[in-house]
Amino acid sequence: SDRHILEIRIMAYGSGQQLLIARDITRVRQLEGMRKEFVANVSHELKTPLTVLQGYLEMMQSMAEPDSPNVRAMDQMLQQTTRMRSMVEQLLALSRIEDASDVDLEVKVSMSQMMDILRDEALALAQDQYEVSFYCEPGLDLYGNELLVRSACSNLISNAIRYTEPGGNIEISWRKVASGGLFSVKDNGEGVAPQHIGRLTERFYRVDSARSRQSGGTGLGLAIAKHALSHHQSELNIMSQLGKGSTFSFVIPANLVEFTKQELA
Ligand code: ADP
Repeated sequence: SDRHILEIRIMAYGSGQQLLIARDITRVRQLEGMRKEFVANVSHELKTPLTVLQGYLEMMQSMAEPDSPNVRAMDQMLQQTTRMRSMVEQLLALSRIEDASDVDLEVKVSMSQMMDILRDEALALAQDQYEVSFYCEPGLDLYGNELLVRSACSNLISNAIRYTEPGGNIEISWRKVASGGLFSVKDNGEGVAPQHIGRLTERFYRVDSARSRQSGGTGLGLAIAKHALSHHQSELNIMSQLGKGSTFSFVIPANLVEFTKQELA
């Protein structure tokens, strides 16, 4: 249709005056929509060929002579194919999350159950090489989409492990605060320099892309977290010091949180 989308801003201007700025963002929104659709289609189309490749490579690998140069080459091919598949899957997840206009914020999510799952995931990733501590406030639940919140949390946890040397500490917690429920992941890993912090949630933005790639990162984890949280009226907070460590956290606002005070047994 020929409807236009206007972005209107009202700003304080001089003493007691206001300035109104209207911008026609119809075209910007159209292009954004095309970009999203394109990415979603390409990712979807790439999924099948990659799955086929991976299947044949696995088969060939199992039939090859052990220790032959072929096996090493096949290992590499399989690794890269698997990486490509996880990128494609993450891209699809991101476009689904971006477009989710119908996130139901009336579904109760049991946080003690979610934290159990996250703990298992964290311990599996940490493989006894990290000191992982866990706290879950009893009786503190939220309303929203379980999968979205969980994917935000698990991306923060896998990053904390990925960007911390073995032997490091990871503290994961969900607790009640005045403004709602606070989820936080603290690590004492490599940290991020201040000039990068504001850009970490952009798609494919990485401080050190070689390192991120090597450790299995796709560059999409924080973009996914940001969008998943925005559906829950929440934002990602990043505090970090280069060489010292980082804390990634978010607050689910009080209107989406329920606190049932636990009776002492
Ligand atoms: P990736 O797959 O590269 O980890 P993310 O979107 O999850 O993609 O993260 C983007 C970038 O943010 C990472 O490449 C890394 O440079 C930085 N980063 C994320 N989490 C941490 C962390 N806990 N400590 C240090 N750097 C981090």
